[in-house]
Amino acid sequence: MKRARSRITETRTWLGEIPIRSRYTAGVAGQLFLTALKERGELIGTRCAACSQVYVPARQFCERCFAELTETVKLKPEGTLKSFTIGFVDHDGKRLKKALALALVQLDGATTVFFHRLLDATDPSKVRIGSPVQVVIKPKTKRTGSILDIEGFKIKV
Ligand SMILES: [Zn+2]
Repeated sequence: MKRARSRITETRTWLGEIPIRSRYTAGVAGQLFLTALKERGELIGTRCAACSQVYVPARQFCERCFAELTETVKLKPEGTLKSFTIGFVDHDGKRLKKALALALVQLDGATTVFFHRLLDATDPSKVRIGSPVQVVIKPKTKRTGSILDIEGFKIKV
């Protein structure tokens, strides 16, 4: 069977703007997580009594078995790097002044991964899956109740 060859050789884009305003709520569990982060610098997850999953950030319902999650867990700001990517261009294809690294980290005591920035990691050859990481949380005076109250993950040396 002969396969047709793709004639598309480049991705075409069109620049434009869509004026949209929105208000997004974090939900019950998200609010619990963000309030603890802002006020106490704590990372709060939720544990599923039915299947033992520990979610961080906190969730209201278990994504695996759909049970309501009512047990909270305070996690240490430490974990393990599970995956990462380093971007060198923005979404318009323009080269970034500084590479942007993003990571999936499993905090110690959690069974799920947490997505955030990977700090000071611009050279992929120096980043290793399995490395221990520290969660860097902004000082209390700079926290606003946002997920960006976490600066990101820093690989422990
Ligand atoms: Zn569950």
